[in-house]
Amino acid sequence: MNNSTNFHPTDSMLIEFSAGSLGVAPSICVSAHLHFCASCRAQLKRLDQVGGQLLGASNSFAVDDDAFDKLMEKIDRAEEPVAQENSNRKMPFSVNKLLSKALVKDSWQRLTSSVAIARFRTGQEEFEVALHKIFAGGKTPKHDHHGLEYTVVLKGSFSDEHAVYREGDFLVRKPGDIHQPMGANNGDCICLSALSAPIKLTNPLGFLMQPWLRINPM
Ligand SMILES: [Zn+2]
Repeated sequence: MNNSTNFHPTDSMLIEFSAGSLGVAPSICVSAHLHFCASCRAQLKRLDQVGGQLLGASNSFAVDDDAFDKLMEKIDRAEEPVAQENSNRKMPFSVNKLLSKALVKDSWQRLTSSVAIARFRTGQEEFEVALHKIFAGGKTPKHDHHGLEYTVVLKGSFSDEHAVYREGDFLVRKPGDIHQPMGANNGDCICLSALSAPIKLTNPLGFLMQPWLRINPM
């Protein structure tokens, strides 16, 4: 597994992931990143150990049934051999499983001439979880975001105005961020993404349609 990942989840996301309090959709993305990133796996292991100790220390207080299960879960995880660390521990899927969806031709729906999407059924209403394929050399429409978007590059690479993103890179787009991803020329790029709201296209002609910008002929 390459270890050249440049963009990682924040510490606070890893802490929430370790505690099991991160939402399903972002957790899927963090899991995918962990598959590629040894340094975040090591960081998570430290967090899991600290979390286990804290949970152990709180045993002298009133402990609900759930807490015991959580503790057992943490112990189980701490005992996993290092070699298996890159298997996804919290999610019932692996990156290879995710990518196997990419191989099924029927999964894909063409969004534009350069982008296709394959959606997952996650039972999530808040997030749309999907694979996005940016075709080699393809340019996506310039767009901004109403909500949060988590992206992990699973295969190939793409770039935008800011940087080049390679396998394993973990990106968070916040509301108001505007960017225009472009596929690398040497092959299709497949990304996993979790979107909390539909993307709004920022085609300049779109603005003309907005009433306050309409030209009044009178
Ligand atoms: Zn990382």
